[in-house]
Amino acid sequence: MLLFGWLASISYGQIERIEPPFWWTDMHSNTLQVMCYGPEIAKYEVAIEGITSIDITRTENDNYLFIKIDTKDIKPGVFSINFKEDDKIVFSKPYEFRSRRENSSLRKGFDSSDVMYLIMPDRFSNGDIHNDSHKETIEKVNRSNPGGRHGGDIQGIINHLEYLKDLGVTAVWSTPLLEDNEPTYSYHTYAQSDLYKIDPRYGTNEDYKRLASEMHKLDMKLIMDYVTNHWGSQHWMIKDVPAKDWIHQWPEGFKRSNYRMTTQFDTHASKIDRKGCMNGWFDTTMPDMNQSNSLVLNYIIQNAIWWIEYADLDGFRVDTYSYNDKHGIAAWTKAIMDEYPDFNIVGEVWMHDQSQISYWQKDSKIGAIDTYNSYLPSVMDFTLHDAIMVMFNEDEDSWDKGMIRAYDNFTHDFLYANTNNILLFAGNHDTNRINEVYQSDINKYKMVMTLIFTTRGIPQIYYGDEIGMLGNRDKKDDGDIRKDFPGGWSDDKRSAFLGASVSAKTGGRTNDEEAYHSFTKKVLHWRKNNEAIHKGELLQYIPVNNVYVYFRHTEKESVMVIINNGNESQEIDITRFKEGIKQFVKGKDIITDTTIDMTENITILSKTSMIIELH
Ligand code: CA
Repeated sequence: MLLFGWLASISYGQIERIEPPFWWTDMHSNTLQVMCYGPEIAKYEVAIEGITSIDITRTENDNYLFIKIDTKDIKPGVFSINFKEDDKIVFSKPYEFRSRRENSSLRKGFDSSDVMYLIMPDRFSNGDIHNDSHKETIEKVNRSNPGGRHGGDIQGIINHLEYLKDLGVTAVWSTPLLEDNEPTYSYHTYAQSDLYKIDPRYGTNEDYKRLASEMHKLDMKLIMDYVTNHWGSQHWMIKDVPAKDWIHQWPEGFKRSNYRMTTQFDTHASKIDRKGCMNGWFDTTMPDMNQSNSLVLNYIIQNAIWWIEYADLDGFRVDTYSYNDKHGIAAWTKAIMDEYPDFNIVGEVWMHDQSQISYWQKDSKIGAIDTYNSYLPSVMDFTLHDAIMVMFNEDEDSWDKGMIRAYDNFTHDFLYANTNNILLFAGNHDTNRINEVYQSDINKYKMVMTLIFTTRGIPQIYYGDEIGMLGNRDKKDDGDIRKDFPGGWSDDKRSAFLGASVSAKTGGRTNDEEAYHSFTKKVLHWRKNNEAIHKGELLQYIPVNNVYVYFRHTEKESVMVIINNGNESQEIDITRFKEGIKQFVKGKDIITDTTIDMTENITILSKTSMIIELH
């Protein structure tokens, strides 16, 4: 332990960075890698007062020095790292080990009882106009540029947590918030320049921590978007790499990934193609990280754990999961799950085949073929998304079109190690908006969301879908699917955060927006307490006449879902569904609040869905 007077007398001038900036005692892993950065720091000898078990690693860049510390017996406190020359201390740096919050390792991640709401913070709400531009970051605010910064921030999210709670959302996934100092397109924030700092245009580290704590007060969960595959070209370490192999270097300087993720498991793949996918860069501004370098791997493992512990997080969404060195990303994932066994991590595995998606899930049966285990608890249902993008425009009864696409998706569930830990979505920040795809046809929106909210897995909605927002990425650009949420800025003419009832006076939701919103809210609130939907088995029937019927059931509860995607109303012969209806004689359609006699045939109108709670 040190005294403040002594601390003040020591010069820290020769250290510019130390990362992680502090750590905790009683962690599952007993090893900590502390990275020190400063001019020619590698020439010094290092000793830590009170800690004997340390190991120093130097790289070819003299400005870096890595201290590996055995943390097993360390008690909370501040320790002095002394940098010495000829056995004399030249300068020192205090390093703190903090106590963890109680039961930190037992934190529970998001699961299928949750509904996740995806936010692009720059485009959601501007809660603090004073941070729209910042002296430390290059790109300044310009709301008229669809690809520029619009000023949204963490305070904007905090200001609307009640809106989300009221909608029935239980978890928020925000796209990255760490500093991205690219001169253009920094608003998407996937080219990060400092992994230990919230971008000042979004707020501070303290603000992020406050967001988590405000969400926890409302019984909601915060999910961080973590990027392991690449950093931004403006990252301070990229400008002075610790080692040449810190990132994947190419003789030609820049080489774009071939994006063929299938090379990661294709038994016939050539080495050059495999390397081209994994080591190629995702984009010009995104140098590809080399996770086979253990210093890099430890850095990103610790950084991820630091954020969980510091901000009190409830989950990760991992960007471009399947572009990483597959063994490196598995080690990263396992280290986090070892530290927090009940945590949840969902990986972006943008594939169009169920066997390929399931390969990336923990304990995958497909992965077992080449003895690969990613340890990733949750994957994304991109094949269901593919189906959702087309099937509700396919009206006619067909062998392979319309609702059969949904049915077929789930027939592949034997491939998945855990079918309930799969993220379900009708769109995200990289896809055409669902209401654009279906030309603002609310009946189709209702069928889509009925499916997403009631089938197995974890539903995710994209901000603005609940008010019918439009956006076309293919015909326009990314900015079109990432428009500002109406009312998120104080000078907006009206606020879609407010109900339609206030529309006449202050300008709330339009009547059309209200129709989307009220349907979403109604189903989500019902879903919140429905165990059959959270955990029940899925029993599905082959669609007939483009009508898809399935059940979610536990021992005690059962829910029958009927989606009529055809052009005509249909009478459902109830005798066919005896296996799902079981002993129940009555039901209630929770969308229309009508009581249903389960002993008689049910008529369902065209382009309509029913969610029948059985009693
Ligand atoms: Ca702002």
